[in-house]
Amino acid sequence: MKRVCALCGRETDVLIEGLCPDCYRKTHPLARVKRDFVGIVRCPMCGSINYRGRWVRDEKVIKKLILESIEPLGRVSGMEIEDLSLRPSMNMVKVTLRGSVHDLIPEYTEPISVSVRYTEELCPRCRDLALERERAVLQVRSLIPLSDSIKNLVLSIIRNEVSRSAERGSIVDINEVSSGFDVKFTDQGLARAVAYKIHSTIPSRISESQSVLRGRGERTVTKLSISLILVPINRGSVVMVMGKPYYVLGYGQGTFKAVDLKDGIHTRLKITDMVKMGVTVPNYDVECVERGSARVLRVIVEGNEYIVSNAC
Ligand SMILES: [Zn+2]
Ligand SMILES: [Zn+2]
Repeated sequence: MKRVCALCGRETDVLIEGLCPDCYRKTHPLARVKRDFVGIVRCPMCGSINYRGRWVRDEKVIKKLILESIEPLGRVSGMEIEDLSLRPSMNMVKVTLRGSVHDLIPEYTEPISVSVRYTEELCPRCRDLALERERAVLQVRSLIPLSDSIKNLVLSIIRNEVSRSAERGSIVDINEVSSGFDVKFTDQGLARAVAYKIHSTIPSRISESQSVLRGRGERTVTKLSISLILVPINRGSVVMVMGKPYYVLGYGQGTFKAVDLKDGIHTRLKITDMVKMGVTVPNYDVECVERGSARVLRVIVEGNEYIVSNAC
């Protein structure tokens, strides 16, 4: 009697639940992944992996965690991870399974993909060590969104200052946040040197405060917090302060020279006031044009035209 597969219609010697071995395999995977994704958390300082709430200093648990998420649906005799190079955030890890889903089918290999979310986080031991060493924190923020070039400038100043005074101390941690950077230092003098170098390079307001970590009298251990608020604009920028447009002519000693575009009056904008009142950058266009016998600056801010003389 001829046996015919119910799915593909082919003749077959072996029929399993009405299907040929190929169709049976296709409809019966060797295994399934139990979770939407496998979370891997690794400490960037010591390399420990968080394994079921415990921090284990053994990279092998990464494989273990991935393989544990696979539930065999047939007889699985081997599982192998092809390539395990994890990047921060989501990864697709390919696993090759070996085995068979039915006794009448000889062993074969079958791929399966596991989603792996990889993150880095200090383990409690390293966090304590970092806290113990952390003597100063520098918060760099910006009043207007930071461009990549300003970000790179800030980072290169930090790197240069730190490498110039390596004997003084080092950086515990540097974190990019939505509007700037948080930098932690082992040494307060180094934090100050970095902060003032950035302050003298980019228009900004600087302020500092000390807090007592522990101890008293001679043995007091303090932590320095420096706040640096950047206003990264320069000659030629147009900014809105309190709803009024200004054309920036220059900067020095905490003050911008600027033209109030509405009435054409030259004025000074103090950084400290700008930090209080806020600054935005509108859509604008600046161009030198001939007007009569003079060259004037034509500034278009959100559709309104302003003329500035003696600025070309
Ligand atoms: Zn078939
Ligand atoms: Zn650690």
